[in-house]
Amino acid sequence: MKFSELGLSQPVLQALELKGYDTPTPIQYQAIPPVLEGRDLLGIAQTGTGKTAAFMLPAIDRLRNSDNQIPFKSCRMLVLAPTRELAGQIAQSAKDYGALAGLKVQVIVGGTSVNKDRNKLHRGTDILVATPGRLLDLIDQKAFNLSGVEVLVLDEADQMLDLGFIHALRRINQLVPKERQTLFFSATMPKAIKELVSGYCTDPVQVSVTPAATTAERIEQYLFMVQQDEKQALLELILSGNHNVPGDLERVLIFTRTKHGADRVVKKLYQRGIQANAIHGNKSQPQRQRALDEFRRGKVSVLIATDVAARGIDIPGVSHVINYELPNVPEQYVHRIGRTARAGRDGIAIAFCGEDERAYLKDIQRNTDASLDRLPLPENFRAVVEGVGPTKPAPRGASRVSQKKVKPKPFGKRPSEGANVQGESQSRSKPKRKHPSRAGKPHRTGSGGRPGGNRSRQRRSQG
Ligand code: AMP
Repeated sequence: MKFSELGLSQPVLQALELKGYDTPTPIQYQAIPPVLEGRDLLGIAQTGTGKTAAFMLPAIDRLRNSDNQIPFKSCRMLVLAPTRELAGQIAQSAKDYGALAGLKVQVIVGGTSVNKDRNKLHRGTDILVATPGRLLDLIDQKAFNLSGVEVLVLDEADQMLDLGFIHALRRINQLVPKERQTLFFSATMPKAIKELVSGYCTDPVQVSVTPAATTAERIEQYLFMVQQDEKQALLELILSGNHNVPGDLERVLIFTRTKHGADRVVKKLYQRGIQANAIHGNKSQPQRQRALDEFRRGKVSVLIATDVAARGIDIPGVSHVINYELPNVPEQYVHRIGRTARAGRDGIAIAFCGEDERAYLKDIQRNTDASLDRLPLPENFRAVVEGVGPTKPAPRGASRVSQKKVKPKPFGKRPSEGANVQGESQSRSKPKRKHPSRAGKPHRTGSGGRPGGNRSRQRRSQG
């Protein structure tokens, strides 16, 4: 199946060609034809499935094909997203895919200047990507209205609900014109979402892709049973290459349950000479953006995140997800590990399970069919934790994590089929597929630490 068979216009096909996409993902080939026909859509899908293009490509064509002008203080297409990061990514996609369609795209999110938003929306826009709170602020100030909306998209609706946007969403439903097309996306379908769907959509075509297990199948999952007070030392040993885990550490995304926990890990890593950034709700928008940019560019290859901050973020090339603390909701585990294995790649997820987290682990295993291979702790580990063992944690500046740029690969390719880790030593082995006989035996990933590798970058980048 090719994009050209789906009925999309030439400008959109050309934009896709520029991006190097020729094969639609399952959600794209199922959703694009009915959306082009004007049908409402209910998409049950997570990020990583290509859902942004699934709604953006046909919507761009529908906007192009109608004679409607940009409405004053309003928009023709409204996309609602839960987080600033996701809104920014969707807006970027709209610009990329609509590059040749001549459509105006704007984005408004909380935490930035309302006055600037008011000014930029004064003359209206074709496509507006917004978080619900900021959108309602502007509507309340009479700086914007929803009377021009022809296409409405709710992206990650379950996440918007989790973030407390239920009232905002009910209100927005009252404000949009009855005559419109609605494209509704959610990774899960709890009762509250079903109610929202019936309020927003009329006879939607339902497309469901990537049930949790499908993403998880491409991810090798491992487990350390480790005491809470040993977790930091274990993390430091892994990141500094003093305890090998499967796969080459290129970009490591680490999850903690709390904001405070995320900051603590960053601080302790910094004391060990391992540079890391954190993203969570207490960070300002510029801080979050900078941390993400540095992670994307490979400048700082360790990112610590809380669930909410990381949800919906698309970062190509995350080689490892480390669950420093297990989530207390099993679905969250699937969302977390789904940050690796993006766009058809494989990935590695490592869980640190403390004594008091065994119940969470059981829940995860029961609810997600996850199979986690247990890895051994380093020799003399307890002594290392207490700082008296022969294997000391890494010296300052000894991060093993790659500081190199990683080129993202197209859908469906394995790392071995096209990985281009620039400057990566030839002697380092590629990530291996899981094999039952290997369970519990970590892969060798090269000669270990690279002392002094990033000493020149020893500075703290978060305030
Ligand atoms: P999404 O689920 O929309 O966040 O998309 C996940 C990632 O896949 C993004 O980096 C997209 O740019 C990329 N992507 C989307 N559709 C395609 C496609 N048909 N071929 C290759 N990459 C794609």
